[in-house]
Amino acid sequence: MVLKLIKRKLKLNYRKKKWPGLIEAYRKYLPVSSKTPIVSLQEGNTPLILSEKLSEIIGNNTKVFLKYDGLNPTGSFKDRGMTMAISKAKEEGCEAVICASTGNTSAAAAAYAAKGGLKSFVLIPDGFVAQGKLAQALMYGAEVISIKDNFDKALEIVRELSEQFPITLVNSVNPYRIEGQKTAAFEIVDDLKFSPDWLCIPMGNAGNITAYWKGFKEYSQKNKKLILPKMMGFQSSGSAPLVENIIVKNPDTIATAIRIGNPVNREKAKLVKKESKGDFQSVTDTEIISAYKILASEGVFCEPASAASVAGLIKNKNRIKKESTIVCVLTGNGLKDPDCAIKNNDAIFTKNVEPDIKNISEKLGF
Ligand SMILES: *Cc1c(COP(=O)(O)O)cnc(C)c1O
Repeated sequence: MVLKLIKRKLKLNYRKKKWPGLIEAYRKYLPVSSKTPIVSLQEGNTPLILSEKLSEIIGNNTKVFLKYDGLNPTGSFKDRGMTMAISKAKEEGCEAVICASTGNTSAAAAAYAAKGGLKSFVLIPDGFVAQGKLAQALMYGAEVISIKDNFDKALEIVRELSEQFPITLVNSVNPYRIEGQKTAAFEIVDDLKFSPDWLCIPMGNAGNITAYWKGFKEYSQKNKKLILPKMMGFQSSGSAPLVENIIVKNPDTIATAIRIGNPVNREKAKLVKKESKGDFQSVTDTEIISAYKILASEGVFCEPASAASVAGLIKNKNRIKKESTIVCVLTGNGLKDPDCAIKNNDAIFTKNVEPDIKNISEKLGF
């Protein structure tokens, strides 16, 4: 009876802690005031999942955690930046926003603009945006234009448009995006009670790695004992401008979210690498798909770009000190890119089978 009551109370307490969205949760770390109209879909507070499988692959008593940011309202970490960017745009009296996107930025911009009552415009590279992301932008009511060129060109165009016309740019050159995204680092420290030894993260424009590092640094000012992680950024070998320190004219990778040849946050990313004593490396598409499958085999479905963080971790297996704690950031949800999953899996899928018990039980091996 008493036990039952205690159990019930615990349950109630869990429910009572209703998550208010990341701006309310981390308000004192963010550039908002009582005048800022908060546009939120209760983003943030995503799970930090212990991966037994990856911990075993790395060995040496290492613990590998997955920051599953694909569980944000529109299915990627972009929501963290967008709640800030759209709230501030609204505060400044803006009525429309614009972005270039490989898909997830447009989904998040369209959703938060819709929530905030703003108009959104989106420029995407024709043929290189995953189906789920395009569906979202269209459903949330963005006006979408696909151009016969890549992301880098699209960004160049929207930057110019936002200078000429009264529209706010919400790509990661918008400083409020970084502010919102840094809260993911706060959540990791809140969950672990310390920071990881390594943070493994995919890089496209390198806004997210910049944001995480800012987050870890700001939290360490509050908690002096916090030892900062090494920031390990990964790109696909067909699209690795930060690893090779060049501009890639025709970036090419299955991981469309990081198919970027000229990252806008290049200089900031270099500084992150230097300050954190981290490293930037590339992984092949084959390694990305292999990591993508390992994750799914443990029940975690992310998009290919996100799996680059895990592919990178596996590549560095022999460099990892024993008893390390590692966090891999899974930036987007696997449902975003169903085509990739359907083309790249090892499942047994028998089609066009006669609906006959005997026939089917034989196929199942009984
Ligand atoms: C945007 C995005 C990235 C890259 O993030 P940057 O901040 O551009 O480095 C990685 N993965 C997914 C799923 C994304 O949507």
